[in-house]
Amino acid sequence: MSADTFVIVVMKRTSREVYSMGKTKKVGAAGKYGVRYGRKIRQRLLAVEKAKKEKKPCPSCTKPALKRLSVGVWQCKKCRAKFAGKAYKPY
Ligand SMILES: [Zn+2]
Repeated sequence: MSADTFVIVVMKRTSREVYSMGKTKKVGAAGKYGVRYGRKIRQRLLAVEKAKKEKKPCPSCTKPALKRLSVGVWQCKKCRAKFAGKAYKPY
């Protein structure tokens, strides 16, 4: 194999790679709803789901390990402190 051939082989992309690079660049987790329910609603939902996953420090031990147990109920995975916060984000 010459040096030129090697470069071509390395740069060739599979279709799977192309999809993973740009398929949900804008819609993110709201992509699971496809084209349904309207663009604005899907965007609002995306903001909520992002805030829900955001790593915020625990008010008790300051470690970023908060988990949402249910609406407004949050628990730290490290020190197990449980507290009431906002519905979709700890505070
Ligand atoms: Zn904690």
